[in-house]
Amino acid sequence: MKAPLLSRPRDGLVTHEMSHPDAMIDMHGIVKTFKNSAGEFTVLKGIDLTIYKGEFVSIVGKSGSGKSTLLNMITGIDHPTAGRMIIGGTDIYTGVTESQRSRWRGRNLGIVFQFFQLLPMLTLAENVMLSMDYAELYDFDERPRRAMQMLEMVGLEKFANKLPVSVSTGQQQLAAIARALACDPPLLVADEPTGNLDSKSANVIIDLFEELSRSGKTILMVTHDPSLTSRTTRNIIISDGELIDETVSRALPWLRHRHMLEITKDAKRQMFQPNEIILECEKDVDSLYLIADGSVDVIAGLDSQSRVLAHLKANDFFGEIELLNGGKSNACVRAGAEPVEILTYPRAEFLRILNESPVTADALRKIADNRLEDWKRRNVESEVS
Ligand code: ADP
Ligand code: MG
Repeated sequence: MKAPLLSRPRDGLVTHEMSHPDAMIDMHGIVKTFKNSAGEFTVLKGIDLTIYKGEFVSIVGKSGSGKSTLLNMITGIDHPTAGRMIIGGTDIYTGVTESQRSRWRGRNLGIVFQFFQLLPMLTLAENVMLSMDYAELYDFDERPRRAMQMLEMVGLEKFANKLPVSVSTGQQQLAAIARALACDPPLLVADEPTGNLDSKSANVIIDLFEELSRSGKTILMVTHDPSLTSRTTRNIIISDGELIDETVSRALPWLRHRHMLEITKDAKRQMFQPNEIILECEKDVDSLYLIADGSVDVIAGLDSQSRVLAHLKANDFFGEIELLNGGKSNACVRAGAEPVEILTYPRAEFLRILNESPVTADALRKIADNRLEDWKRRNVESEVS
């Protein structure tokens, strides 16, 4: 009997609507405070996050920023001080006993750690079977065959009867992934799964994750290797227990995390209706504008002669030319055919951040110069024609 995705026995757990039909994880206001003799220490400061089915998400952040704590809230290994965590339609903390949660975890989650955590006295196949025994899934007779299939999937069938110590660390991690997937969970959660591997073995793991993600698994991976984030479909940054707005991190990837967080907290969010003017021509520009959703047209002149100079989409920005060079807006910006969501951040504050972040200042300067040149050329072309 093969257990189908997401239709496991409910174990008496309450089913909840997800915020979106395609959501896999919905968390709201997740707070985690640790108490010790020195006092209280809040590690997660109110996290709101939705992860959608089939996403391959990387979570990055400095050491101590709260990545593992956040994963422990998702796996139910530790519990939040406040907030709601709904996974696959189950609120895993409200009205749920520890043993219900542990049963739910065994049937719905695959968990992979940095240090594999295989049982040293069991063979790889026995390690994989253990999670089926534990979750009481699959017939007793079927478990060895299923364990073999899982080991084949990760290319370890030849090593099924070996003990963990007799295979490489990369192979141990592959076996740990086979074990995590033995009960066919829809969601795989991994904390620094490549942190203890050489880059070649790390690549094998990420290739496998990509394949699993294509086959429909949702994967959440904490990593501090920035080269891996380009392989995932979405990257989330945590800084000092808070999530960075993804528009900010995508639009301004050169910034330090603490600067991204300042902008996340202080930027103003505004909606504009289709075709509404967002930035008028010949006006002082007192903010940087980041496009969170929708698209805008940059236009020279609003009269009958008006020309569209550029079309900017989500995670792009405007206002940087005037911000860097001073002076009034040299074009105007109008919302496209759909409503547009904009983040604005005050010019004076942004100039201070640029002072502390020469890499970003350089990158913006280049973008601004290229845009100015491009727009001038378009203006000349349209005057000639
Ligand atoms: P990361 O995985 O991003 O390196 P962690 O989530 O492990 O960070 O830790 C975040 C902060 O929480 C750290 O300052 C850590 O010392 C603290 N912390 C984590 N677990 C505990 C605990 N059980 N008790 C007290 N403090 C903890
Ligand atoms: Mg960690």
